[in-house]
Amino acid sequence: MEQFKKRNTYKNKQSSMGRPVEGYVKKGMTDSHFERSEESAAFGQFRSFASILAGTLLMLLGNALAAQEAFKNSELTVTKLEKGVWVVETVDMTTMYIVEGTKRSLLIDTGTKCDSLDKIVRSITSKPLDVVVTHNHIDHAGNIRYFDTVYMHPADSTVRMGIEFHGVYRWLADGDVFDLGDRKIEIYLMPGHTPGSVVLIDKAIDACYSSDAFGSGQVWLQLLPHVSMKTYYESCVRMEKIMREQNITKIYCGHYPYLKRALGLNYIIEMRDLAKRLSEGDVSGSQPYRMPFKTDIACDKPAMAINGSAMIVYDSENIN
Ligand SMILES: [Zn+2]
Repeated sequence: MEQFKKRNTYKNKQSSMGRPVEGYVKKGMTDSHFERSEESAAFGQFRSFASILAGTLLMLLGNALAAQEAFKNSELTVTKLEKGVWVVETVDMTTMYIVEGTKRSLLIDTGTKCDSLDKIVRSITSKPLDVVVTHNHIDHAGNIRYFDTVYMHPADSTVRMGIEFHGVYRWLADGDVFDLGDRKIEIYLMPGHTPGSVVLIDKAIDACYSSDAFGSGQVWLQLLPHVSMKTYYESCVRMEKIMREQNITKIYCGHYPYLKRALGLNYIIEMRDLAKRLSEGDVSGSQPYRMPFKTDIACDKPAMAINGSAMIVYDSENIN
């Protein structure tokens, strides 16, 4: 497809793999501190006025927030993040992004289980749509069945999760660009979380959609197929370089509901330093890690290490 520039050519393949705002209340300031006098009557009037003002402000704030909410049902909420970008947050804490340009739109990831995802995306953008899955995990590729064609890196065809799909995979390559008109979205391969994890750079807003490649506070490297810590360290180094050279200041991660904000360069630097230390065999301070749920693709003895805001979960028996 013309809008999709490929440096490398892969044949299309079919595969079966599948606050509210709190009023400022000074501690101890209650009605009992004011004597019932003319002064207190004046204060009462003031308080009524302040109360009406606060109520109006809250209403305006609520309206502003609601105006940003583009769609909501029992499974997910779509909220506008910035110009041409919506974040889709599901009740099971997964995340998708819809990016719209002047000519085309891109859906990044598809969540675990979202009924009629195609129609929901279509209610946000009517432009011709491409769908990219950042990696082949069920919580990112779980709804690809709603689409005819899905872009994914071929290295992730080795991630076996039995995902239902009857359409066509188009294989992504490092350096591929999705031309959406006024914004170009560039693909970078960042192995670690999976062999074929990709991040998407959106220079129009100085942002990166990183999915799970660097985690959402905590990156999981304890999963199969195994990718070495050294390889993940190289991905961290590359990500830091891209952020510095291209002035990328915001990392929109793959599990946005946990953070409700973008990550920054400092997070990648802390990840890089931690990955380097672990890859060199320094596991001091690491703790055994308990998986929050059972999965066949996790190693037997995961461990976790922390450096500032960055956490890495890894296979303690197979680091590199
Ligand atoms: Zn993942």
